[in-house]
Amino acid sequence: MSVLRKEMFDLPAGMIYLDGNSLGPLPRAVAARVAQAITGEWGAHLIKGWNVDGWMALPSRVGDAVGQLIGAPAGSVVMGDTLSIKVYQALSAALQMRPDRKVVLSDNGNFPTDLYMADGLIRHLSHGHRLDVVDPEVVMDAITDEVAAVMLTQVDYRTGRMHDIAAITAKAHAVGAVMIWDLAHSAGAVPVDIAGCHAEFAVGCTYKYLNGGPGAPAFIYVRPDLADSVQPALAGWLGHAAPFAFDLDYRPAPGVERMRVGTPPVIQLAALEAALEVWEGVEMGALRAASIALSEVFIREVEARCPELTLASPRDASLRGSQVSFRFEHGYAAMQALIARDVIGDFRAPDTMRFGFTPLYLDEGDVVRAAEIIEEVICGRLWHRPEYLARQRVT
Ligand SMILES: *Cc1c(COP(=O)(O)O)cnc(C)c1O
Repeated sequence: MSVLRKEMFDLPAGMIYLDGNSLGPLPRAVAARVAQAITGEWGAHLIKGWNVDGWMALPSRVGDAVGQLIGAPAGSVVMGDTLSIKVYQALSAALQMRPDRKVVLSDNGNFPTDLYMADGLIRHLSHGHRLDVVDPEVVMDAITDEVAAVMLTQVDYRTGRMHDIAAITAKAHAVGAVMIWDLAHSAGAVPVDIAGCHAEFAVGCTYKYLNGGPGAPAFIYVRPDLADSVQPALAGWLGHAAPFAFDLDYRPAPGVERMRVGTPPVIQLAALEAALEVWEGVEMGALRAASIALSEVFIREVEARCPELTLASPRDASLRGSQVSFRFEHGYAAMQALIARDVIGDFRAPDTMRFGFTPLYLDEGDVVRAAEIIEEVICGRLWHRPEYLARQRVT
């Protein structure tokens, strides 16, 4: 069954949007829901909204909706903060679970903020931890019984290369390490069975394939059997067992709610909750099949038309997430020229042109049309203009 539901998105006419892996487009249901949250709830009810509009329950309610897309049972995911913060929470809790071990293992395909957060945490702890960052290809061999926590992003943000969640988690557990998966480029992109792999923690953001909008809150999953015992490093009042008792001592809430920190972003959560309605009836296996079909057409068409571009993603679709990247020496300028022609992808230093495939609102016609425009830009050297060569702040 087709997963295409373009009519549920508010995409500018004529635009081919291949950047849903960075910022998903606006689902049509969001504007009305946000307007309702602002005028119908905040405006009309003011402080009463916390109770009458259920604002305080939003992080868990929306967490359950996200959980359905990553194979997490109800009550195991909670929303809030940004992904960087959720990485910190997961890793700090993981290190407390393995006090005798000093190594955090990650790879150099990880998104830098994950590594920065790990580095900052380790320095702050001053317990002699060490962050080992290896090539993705040798992660399996680097998982030894020295490792306290393996912290990886499943899908490489630059190339789309995908780790085998089940195999790596099994190896981590075989040596007694805690497993943390960052699902930033997985949630809503590929089928994930986080409960089935038994990883202790998973984190991710919701503004990419989940279309929650810029600044949408992140999520954290804690394996249910651990949720009552993990120690939150960010011991905020809304992760307290009884926030409105205003105790002077911290007591973590039961379950994953202890991973809440402070006041939830109510308007953003309302936007996200409405955005998640587009997933109603979407089967992740069908989504994956459609994503692979689009990616294969794109690779075939671009390679046939533009020999100057080199595929940077794995050629084997089973090793790739829902994006395709090409290397091109003038990739930045070429991407600017594409954007000017309403084919929207993005650029990652030093030379990667990145295109995301989201079958909810892209069909084969879009993908072929994008390849035609890429051919015009590359073969006609249309990128060679001063306004495309000058770098902007956000690439
Ligand atoms: C997008 C992304 C982030 C972004 O973190 P924020 O705190 O939401 O800005 C972090 N990690 C990975 C792996 C990502 O892909």
